[in-house]
Amino acid sequence: RNGEIQVYYQPIYYAWTGEIALAEALARWFSGEFGSISPAKFIPTLEESGYITKLDYHVYQTVYNLIEKRRKEGKRVVDIGVNLSRMDLMDKHIMDTILGDMKNSDLPSGSISYELTESAYAGVSEDGNSFLTKMHEEGTKLLVDDFGSGVSSFSTIRDFDFDILKLDMGFVQKIGLNRKNNNIIISLIELAHRLDLKVIAEGVETKEQADFLRNYGCDYFQGFYFAKPMPQEEFEALLDKQS
Ligand code: C2E
Ligand code: MG
Ligand code: MG
Repeated sequence: RNGEIQVYYQPIYYAWTGEIALAEALARWFSGEFGSISPAKFIPTLEESGYITKLDYHVYQTVYNLIEKRRKEGKRVVDIGVNLSRMDLMDKHIMDTILGDMKNSDLPSGSISYELTESAYAGVSEDGNSFLTKMHEEGTKLLVDDFGSGVSSFSTIRDFDFDILKLDMGFVQKIGLNRKNNNIIISLIELAHRLDLKVIAEGVETKEQADFLRNYGCDYFQGFYFAKPMPQEEFEALLDKQS
Protein backbone atom coordinates (compact mmCIF):
# COMPACT_ATOMS: atom_id res chain seq x y z
CA ARG A 1 0.00 0.00 0.00
CA ASN A 2 2.84 2.41 0.77
CA GLY A 3 4.88 1.41 -2.26
CA GLU A 4 7.74 0.28 0.00
CA ILE A 5 7.97 -3.08 -1.74
CA GLN A 6 9.71 -2.73 -5.07
CA VAL A 7 10.38 -5.21 -7.79
CA TYR A 8 14.01 -5.55 -8.92
CA TYR A 9 15.10 -7.43 -12.01
CA GLN A 10 18.16 -9.59 -12.47
CA PRO A 11 19.06 -10.38 -16.07
CA ILE A 12 19.90 -13.97 -17.04
CA TYR A 13 22.37 -14.33 -19.91
CA TYR A 14 22.89 -16.82 -22.73
CA ALA A 15 26.06 -18.70 -21.83
CA TRP A 16 27.51 -18.35 -25.32
CA THR A 17 26.51 -14.95 -26.62
CA GLY A 18 26.40 -12.83 -23.49
CA GLU A 19 23.01 -11.51 -24.55
CA ILE A 20 20.16 -11.15 -22.05
CA ALA A 21 17.91 -14.19 -22.46
CA LEU A 22 15.56 -13.98 -19.48
CA ALA A 23 15.22 -12.24 -16.13
CA GLU A 24 14.10 -12.93 -12.59
CA ALA A 25 11.86 -10.60 -10.58
CA LEU A 26 13.00 -10.20 -6.96
CA ALA A 27 11.12 -8.36 -4.22
CA ARG A 28 12.88 -5.59 -2.28
CA TRP A 29 11.56 -3.90 0.83
CA PHE A 30 12.63 -0.33 1.49
CA SER A 31 10.96 0.31 4.82
CA GLY A 32 10.45 3.89 5.97
CA GLU A 33 10.92 2.65 9.51
CA PHE A 34 13.65 -0.01 9.28
CA GLY A 35 15.54 0.82 6.10
CA SER A 36 16.30 -1.78 3.48
CA ILE A 37 15.33 -5.33 4.46
CA SER A 38 16.47 -8.47 2.65
CA PRO A 39 13.85 -10.90 1.26
CA ALA A 40 15.65 -13.66 3.17
CA LYS A 41 14.27 -11.90 6.28
CA PHE A 42 10.79 -10.83 5.29
CA ILE A 43 9.73 -13.68 2.95
CA PRO A 44 9.70 -16.34 5.73
CA THR A 45 7.68 -13.99 7.94
CA LEU A 46 5.17 -13.38 5.16
CA GLU A 47 4.95 -17.12 4.58
CA GLU A 48 4.15 -17.72 8.24
CA SER A 49 1.51 -15.02 8.35
CA GLY A 50 -0.09 -15.97 5.03
CA TYR A 51 0.56 -12.59 3.39
CA ILE A 52 3.07 -14.01 0.93
CA THR A 53 0.34 -14.63 -1.66
CA LYS A 54 -0.41 -10.88 -1.68
CA LEU A 55 3.25 -10.05 -2.23
CA ASP A 56 3.68 -12.65 -4.96
CA TYR A 57 0.56 -11.44 -6.74
CA HIS A 58 1.83 -7.85 -6.53
CA VAL A 59 5.16 -8.90 -8.05
CA TYR A 60 3.33 -10.81 -10.77
CA GLN A 61 1.18 -7.77 -11.64
CA THR A 62 4.20 -5.47 -11.71
CA VAL A 63 6.00 -7.82 -14.08
CA TYR A 64 2.88 -8.15 -16.22
CA ASN A 65 2.59 -4.37 -16.51
CA LEU A 66 6.25 -4.00 -17.44
CA ILE A 67 6.07 -6.59 -20.22
CA GLU A 68 2.78 -5.16 -21.52
CA LYS A 69 4.17 -1.61 -21.49
CA ARG A 70 7.33 -2.51 -23.40
CA ARG A 71 5.39 -4.51 -25.96
CA LYS A 72 3.05 -1.56 -26.55
CA GLU A 73 6.07 0.70 -26.98
CA GLY A 74 7.50 -1.78 -29.49
CA LYS A 75 10.56 -2.30 -27.32
CA ARG A 76 12.53 -5.44 -26.71
CA VAL A 77 11.44 -7.52 -23.74
CA VAL A 78 12.45 -10.93 -22.38
CA ASP A 79 10.48 -13.58 -20.50
CA ILE A 80 10.55 -12.90 -16.76
CA GLY A 81 10.40 -15.42 -13.91
CA VAL A 82 8.39 -14.75 -10.78
CA ASN A 83 9.06 -16.65 -7.55
CA LEU A 84 6.13 -18.56 -6.12
CA SER A 85 6.09 -19.67 -2.52
CA ARG A 86 4.90 -23.14 -1.53
CA MET A 87 2.14 -21.24 0.29
CA ASP A 88 0.78 -19.94 -3.04
CA LEU A 89 0.18 -23.54 -4.07
CA MET A 90 -2.06 -24.00 -1.04
CA ASP A 91 -4.15 -20.92 -1.79
CA LYS A 92 -6.93 -21.68 -4.24
CA HIS A 93 -7.86 -18.02 -4.51
CA ILE A 94 -4.50 -16.86 -5.84
CA MET A 95 -4.20 -19.86 -8.15
CA ASP A 96 -7.66 -19.18 -9.64
CA THR A 97 -6.81 -15.49 -9.99
CA ILE A 98 -3.57 -16.18 -11.85
CA LEU A 99 -5.26 -18.73 -14.12
CA GLY A 100 -8.08 -16.27 -14.84
CA ASP A 101 -5.58 -13.49 -15.57
CA MET A 102 -3.70 -15.73 -17.94
CA LYS A 103 -6.85 -16.60 -19.90
CA ASN A 104 -7.68 -12.90 -20.32
CA SER A 105 -4.10 -11.85 -20.98
CA ASP A 106 -2.88 -10.30 -24.23
CA LEU A 107 0.71 -11.35 -23.56
CA PRO A 108 2.15 -14.30 -25.46
CA SER A 109 2.11 -17.42 -23.30
CA GLY A 110 5.46 -17.93 -21.66
CA SER A 111 6.08 -14.21 -21.08
CA ILE A 112 5.90 -14.84 -17.34
CA SER A 113 7.36 -18.01 -15.89
CA TYR A 114 7.33 -19.41 -12.35
CA GLU A 115 10.17 -20.41 -10.07
CA LEU A 116 9.45 -22.93 -7.35
CA THR A 117 11.83 -24.77 -5.08
CA GLU A 118 12.09 -28.54 -5.06
CA SER A 119 10.39 -28.77 -1.69
CA ALA A 120 7.45 -26.73 -2.97
CA TYR A 121 7.00 -29.23 -5.79
CA ALA A 122 7.54 -32.22 -3.53
CA GLY A 123 4.86 -31.16 -1.05
CA VAL A 124 2.34 -29.91 -3.59
CA SER A 125 -1.39 -30.51 -2.99
CA GLU A 126 -3.79 -31.89 -5.58
CA ASP A 127 -5.10 -28.37 -6.30
CA GLY A 128 -1.56 -27.06 -6.59
CA ASN A 129 -0.64 -29.84 -8.96
CA SER A 130 -3.62 -29.23 -11.20
CA PHE A 131 -2.79 -25.48 -11.21
CA LEU A 132 0.80 -26.17 -12.34
CA THR A 133 -0.37 -28.65 -14.97
CA LYS A 134 -2.90 -26.17 -16.40
CA MET A 135 -0.35 -23.35 -16.43
CA HIS A 136 2.16 -25.57 -18.16
CA GLU A 137 -0.36 -26.71 -20.76
CA GLU A 138 -1.05 -23.06 -21.55
CA GLY A 139 2.64 -22.50 -22.28
CA THR A 140 3.88 -21.14 -18.94
CA LYS A 141 7.42 -22.26 -18.21
CA LEU A 142 8.16 -23.83 -14.83
CA LEU A 143 11.56 -23.56 -13.19
CA VAL A 144 13.01 -25.55 -10.30
CA ASP A 145 14.76 -23.02 -8.07
CA ASP A 146 17.84 -23.74 -5.94
CA PHE A 147 18.18 -27.21 -7.41
CA GLY A 148 20.39 -29.50 -5.37
CA SER A 149 20.23 -27.54 -2.14
CA GLY A 150 17.14 -28.95 -0.51
CA VAL A 151 15.21 -32.17 -0.55
CA SER A 152 16.30 -33.16 -4.06
CA SER A 153 14.48 -36.19 -5.20
CA PHE A 154 14.74 -37.88 -8.55
CA SER A 155 11.09 -38.85 -8.40
CA THR A 156 10.16 -35.14 -8.20
CA ILE A 157 12.09 -34.32 -11.34
CA ARG A 158 10.66 -37.42 -12.99
CA ASP A 159 7.04 -36.75 -12.07
CA PHE A 160 6.74 -33.02 -12.82
CA ASP A 161 7.03 -31.31 -16.16
CA PHE A 162 9.57 -28.54 -15.69
CA ASP A 163 11.34 -26.55 -18.34
CA ILE A 164 14.37 -25.13 -16.60
CA LEU A 165 16.53 -26.27 -13.73
CA LYS A 166 18.28 -23.59 -11.69
CA LEU A 167 21.46 -24.97 -10.26
CA ASP A 168 21.82 -23.75 -6.68
CA MET A 169 24.55 -21.21 -6.09
CA GLY A 170 26.03 -23.39 -3.34
CA PHE A 171 27.38 -25.64 -6.12
CA VAL A 172 28.39 -22.81 -8.45
CA GLN A 173 30.42 -21.08 -5.77
CA LYS A 174 32.46 -24.20 -4.99
CA ILE A 175 33.62 -24.64 -8.58
CA GLY A 176 37.34 -25.34 -8.64
CA LEU A 177 37.45 -25.87 -4.87
CA ASN A 178 36.12 -29.39 -4.64
CA ARG A 179 36.45 -32.22 -7.17
CA LYS A 180 33.25 -33.94 -6.06
CA ASN A 181 31.38 -30.66 -6.41
CA ASN A 182 32.68 -30.18 -9.97
CA ASN A 183 31.62 -33.69 -10.97
CA ILE A 184 28.16 -33.27 -9.46
CA ILE A 185 27.67 -30.13 -11.55
CA ILE A 186 28.83 -31.87 -14.73
CA SER A 187 26.43 -34.75 -14.03
CA LEU A 188 23.51 -32.48 -13.18
CA ILE A 189 23.89 -30.55 -16.43
CA GLU A 190 23.94 -33.79 -18.36
CA LEU A 191 20.98 -35.17 -16.42
CA ALA A 192 18.97 -32.01 -17.09
CA HIS A 193 19.71 -32.12 -20.81
CA ARG A 194 18.73 -35.78 -21.01
CA LEU A 195 15.38 -34.74 -19.53
CA ASP A 196 15.04 -31.89 -22.08
CA LEU A 197 15.54 -29.24 -19.41
CA LYS A 198 17.65 -26.13 -19.83
CA VAL A 199 20.06 -25.18 -17.04
CA ILE A 200 20.53 -21.78 -15.41
CA ALA A 201 23.52 -21.48 -13.08
CA GLU A 202 22.67 -19.15 -10.17
CA GLY A 203 25.19 -17.07 -8.30
CA VAL A 204 27.94 -16.93 -10.94
CA GLU A 205 30.46 -14.51 -9.46
CA THR A 206 33.71 -15.18 -11.33
CA LYS A 207 35.04 -15.70 -14.84
CA GLU A 208 36.41 -19.11 -13.77
CA GLN A 209 32.95 -20.26 -12.73
CA ALA A 210 31.41 -19.03 -15.99
CA ASP A 211 34.14 -20.69 -18.10
CA PHE A 212 33.74 -24.02 -16.29
CA LEU A 213 29.95 -23.98 -16.63
CA ARG A 214 30.09 -22.98 -20.30
CA ASN A 215 32.56 -25.81 -21.04
CA TYR A 216 30.16 -28.34 -19.58
CA GLY A 217 27.15 -27.08 -21.52
CA CYS A 218 25.31 -24.87 -19.02
CA ASP A 219 22.73 -22.87 -21.00
CA TYR A 220 22.29 -19.65 -19.01
CA PHE A 221 24.08 -17.58 -16.38
CA GLN A 222 22.66 -15.49 -13.54
CA GLY A 223 24.97 -13.83 -11.09
CA PHE A 224 26.87 -10.80 -9.90
CA TYR A 225 29.68 -11.45 -12.42
CA PHE A 226 27.17 -10.40 -15.10
CA ALA A 227 24.64 -8.19 -13.31
CA LYS A 228 23.08 -7.66 -9.91
CA PRO A 229 19.33 -7.33 -9.36
CA MET A 230 18.43 -3.76 -10.39
CA PRO A 231 15.50 -1.34 -10.37
CA GLN A 232 13.10 -1.39 -13.31
CA GLU A 233 14.50 1.76 -15.00
CA GLU A 234 18.03 0.33 -15.03
CA PHE A 235 16.82 -3.00 -16.33
CA GLU A 236 14.90 -1.29 -19.09
CA ALA A 237 17.92 0.80 -20.04
CA LEU A 238 19.99 -2.39 -20.28
CA LEU A 239 17.41 -4.02 -22.54
CA ASP A 240 17.29 -0.90 -24.71
CA LYS A 241 21.07 -0.95 -25.04
CA GLN A 242 21.07 -4.56 -26.26
CA SER A 243 18.25 -4.20 -28.78
P1 C2E B 1 16.10 -17.01 -5.34
O1 C2E B 1 14.76 -17.05 -6.01
O2 C2E B 1 16.94 -18.23 -5.44
O3 C2E B 1 16.82 -15.74 -5.94
C1 C2E B 1 18.19 -15.65 -6.19
C2 C2E B 1 18.89 -14.90 -5.08
O4 C2E B 1 20.29 -14.93 -5.35
C3 C2E B 1 18.53 -13.43 -5.00
O5 C2E B 1 18.58 -13.07 -3.63
C4 C2E B 1 19.68 -12.77 -5.76
O6 C2E B 1 19.89 -11.43 -5.40
C5 C2E B 1 20.82 -13.65 -5.34
N1 C2E B 1 21.96 -13.63 -6.26
C6 C2E B 1 21.92 -13.54 -7.61
N2 C2E B 1 23.16 -13.61 -8.13
C7 C2E B 1 24.01 -13.76 -7.08
C8 C2E B 1 25.45 -13.88 -6.96
O7 C2E B 1 26.19 -13.88 -7.93
N3 C2E B 1 25.95 -14.01 -5.71
C9 C2E B 1 25.17 -14.02 -4.59
N4 C2E B 1 25.76 -14.16 -3.42
N5 C2E B 1 23.82 -13.90 -4.67
C10 C2E B 1 23.24 -13.78 -5.90
P2 C2E B 1 17.46 -12.19 -2.94
O8 C2E B 1 16.95 -11.18 -3.92
O9 C2E B 1 18.01 -11.73 -1.64
O10 C2E B 1 16.29 -13.21 -2.71
C11 C2E B 1 16.43 -14.28 -1.80
C12 C2E B 1 15.28 -15.24 -1.95
O11 C2E B 1 14.05 -14.65 -1.50
C13 C2E B 1 15.02 -15.68 -3.39
O12 C2E B 1 15.93 -16.67 -3.77
C14 C2E B 1 13.59 -16.18 -3.27
O13 C2E B 1 13.55 -17.47 -2.75
C15 C2E B 1 13.01 -15.21 -2.24
N6 C2E B 1 12.26 -14.16 -2.95
C16 C2E B 1 12.69 -12.97 -3.46
N7 C2E B 1 11.68 -12.29 -4.04
C17 C2E B 1 10.57 -13.06 -3.88
C18 C2E B 1 9.18 -12.91 -4.25
O14 C2E B 1 8.75 -11.93 -4.89
N8 C2E B 1 8.32 -13.93 -3.88
C19 C2E B 1 8.77 -15.05 -3.21
N9 C2E B 1 7.86 -15.98 -2.88
N10 C2E B 1 10.04 -15.22 -2.86
C20 C2E B 1 10.95 -14.24 -3.19
MG1 MG C 1 14.17 -17.63 -7.79
MG1 MG D 1 17.46 -19.56 -6.54
